[in-house]
Amino acid sequence: MKITRIETFMVPPRWLFCRIETDDGTVGWGEPVVEGRAEAVRAAVEVLAEYLVGQDPLRIEDHWQVLTKGGFYRGGPVLSSAVAGIDQALWDLAGRHYGAPVHALLGGPVRERARVYGWVGGDDPGELAEQVAALAEAGFTAVKMNASGRISPHPTAAEISAVVRRVATAREVLGQDRDVAVDCHGRFTAAGARRLLVELAPLHPLFVEEPVLPDQGHLLPGLVAAGPVPIATGERVYDRGGFLPVLQAGVAVAQPDLSHAGGISETRRIATLAETFGAQLAPHCPLGPIALAASLQVDFATPNFLIQEQSLGIHYNKDADLLSYVVDPEPFRFQDGHAVRSDLPGLGITVDEAAVRAADRTGHTWRNPVWRHNDGSFAEW
Ligand SMILES: [Mg+2]
Repeated sequence: MKITRIETFMVPPRWLFCRIETDDGTVGWGEPVVEGRAEAVRAAVEVLAEYLVGQDPLRIEDHWQVLTKGGFYRGGPVLSSAVAGIDQALWDLAGRHYGAPVHALLGGPVRERARVYGWVGGDDPGELAEQVAALAEAGFTAVKMNASGRISPHPTAAEISAVVRRVATAREVLGQDRDVAVDCHGRFTAAGARRLLVELAPLHPLFVEEPVLPDQGHLLPGLVAAGPVPIATGERVYDRGGFLPVLQAGVAVAQPDLSHAGGISETRRIATLAETFGAQLAPHCPLGPIALAASLQVDFATPNFLIQEQSLGIHYNKDADLLSYVVDPEPFRFQDGHAVRSDLPGLGITVDEAAVRAADRTGHTWRNPVWRHNDGSFAEW
């Protein structure tokens, strides 16, 4: 079997899909994208495709090595995401070739269902109670929210109080048997985050995510030591080498993104590395159906899995949603807040190719907003 063609598709709301085809007609799908930089990742996939066409698609690990290391210069979100989407497509293809779900090829399932959480509040959370109640009503056992919208990196007493009030509202609606996770999006200084963590501790968040920017990983030990709140990070960390100091810092939850951190192959290795630190895996995935399907395959086969992000109804999904490009929504029909494992081959979904090709004709030019503080200076989004 040889790879004969690799195509990419820019589809709304902000995704990039890739399709790998072989000479025997087997097809695999992946989602190589950096949100807001889809065109750059598309170009990277096209360059990597030069090597892959003509190769045996089943040599996934060898291809991962060559695509990641063979260009001499390595790493970074664009290359790692291009490799990630190709890696997902190769695993999908291998699963279809062997007639097995990817989780079976990873050593077999260790669970029957994977807990997922839903998003509430959007970029700039305001009143949350109704949204939290709606998700709880729909069966979700956990929600995640941004701590705040634009905020001073060194927040005022009022800003801290507003964050705590929002999380308290969610906790009140959820009760003690469900969870709320809080995403700081790297919007705080370590000093600001420390203050917030102390105030949030009585509300028992599932975790607090990206309390500081990923390039300030050296500050994580102080935040871990600041109190009992579990710290999560990793959506902007792209490989094992990046996760090692994060785990050494004592974070409780590793959040690699299957579409950024080298795909199924590297995320599986990051999960194993996390296991040696007693840390749990909560893959980041505010993306499309292929990235989520790939994430779930890893979740079903990973002992130290905690919870899965998913984008159904997320604030980014305008014009299209998680179900817009799959033939059968069943794999994403969550039951009691869980995705249920199936034995469907590959990634376990059937991509609606006609819908993808039609959507690619429109494409998208999604960019994240650029925020500024009141004094006109740049603000973290
Ligand atoms: Mg996040």
